[in-house]
Amino acid sequence: MNFEDFFRAELDGLKEEGRYRVFAELERHAGAFPKATRYAGDETHKVTVWCSNDYLGMGQNRVVLEAMHRALDSCGAGAGGTRNISGTNHHHVLLERELADLHGKEAALIFTSGYVSNWATLGTLGAKIPDCVILSDSLNHASMIEGIRHSRADKVIWRHNDVEDLDRKLAAIAPGRPKIVAFESVYSMDGDIAPIAEICDVAEKHGAMTYLDEVHAVGLYGPRGGGVAEREGVMDRLTVIEGTLGKAFGVLGGYIAASAALCDFVRSFSSGFIFTTALPPAVAAGATASIRHLKASELERARQRERVATVRGRLDALGIPHLDNPSHIIPVMVCDAKKCKWISDVLLERYGIYIQPINYPTVPKGSERLRITPSPLHRDADVELLVRALNDLWSQCALNRAVA
Ligand SMILES: *Cc1c(COP(=O)(O)O)cnc(C)c1O
Repeated sequence: MNFEDFFRAELDGLKEEGRYRVFAELERHAGAFPKATRYAGDETHKVTVWCSNDYLGMGQNRVVLEAMHRALDSCGAGAGGTRNISGTNHHHVLLERELADLHGKEAALIFTSGYVSNWATLGTLGAKIPDCVILSDSLNHASMIEGIRHSRADKVIWRHNDVEDLDRKLAAIAPGRPKIVAFESVYSMDGDIAPIAEICDVAEKHGAMTYLDEVHAVGLYGPRGGGVAEREGVMDRLTVIEGTLGKAFGVLGGYIAASAALCDFVRSFSSGFIFTTALPPAVAAGATASIRHLKASELERARQRERVATVRGRLDALGIPHLDNPSHIIPVMVCDAKKCKWISDVLLERYGIYIQPINYPTVPKGSERLRITPSPLHRDADVELLVRALNDLWSQCALNRAVA
């Protein structure tokens, strides 16, 4: 086989379908979030980032950076091993305590990313619990889907956020079989939020375990940033809460929070936890500082809510259609793959505004969008420029306006 030809042909296929991913090469500026320098060939341009998952700008927060500097200077660069073989640093243990406390659970277990935490935990639970069935929301993240597939447990997909469908599907499974209901709180593409309490009601009725991905909610919702389940007072009803340290907490890593026995079980049996080098201690220290800060400070969350409401209000006034949802994510609907890519390119080139276009297969064809994530650090002038640019481009592309 000519491998090079094969790779090129596959890539050409992606390009023809308009699915080939082009990365914007950025240099983020600590102290000036959400500003960045974009590298394009030999040129550089200043841009304002409007699509970051560093939702609160914690990736540049002073307390986070100071904690990382201190740990780097005291512990050095890497962890030096897997958790089992010399890699468990004091900072990992402190982070796990911080996370257990955040979610009101007995224990927590950290992984090298949120992806790995979902993959490894669902993979291990599904494989090791005898005769287990996993009930997965139809819009679950790839990391959960891959973990479930890897577990080889039976999988049942229930209609997105549809509690009655979940109830029916649970009822159809033999009562004695172990069941896991896996879902997310905030879904990142539509920005809608799961009815967590109702899902717990149904799961409890059928004796199922619950597994909640709060990746797009931790740090952002609840009085201490414990997520939507904290805000709604239902954290204790969830068997497992999974989260990331890479989005609102601004650093890197993933985790689960659950009972001591469940965490110890995953720690002891999960290949994706055991056989990989632990996070650098400085990363763990930065994440701990970030979580601690957001437990005590409402400032960032309040300002973010205000910024989100401001952007929504401005878009409404101009009739620029966006999904109406109760979260911090504003999906501006273009509903045309080519126009979506074109608008994103022009925003970047002409206005210095970076919003990655979201096309198929991340979202269904015909629902192409610009996913805007206002942060506490976007200023009025940034909002002004964004809204003016979108208004211009909406007219140029002759796109539909929403009727107020
Ligand atoms: C980003 C994401 C993850 C993975 O988290 P990382 O820390 O980025 O690996 C898991 N679940 C959902 C819903 C996500 O959007």
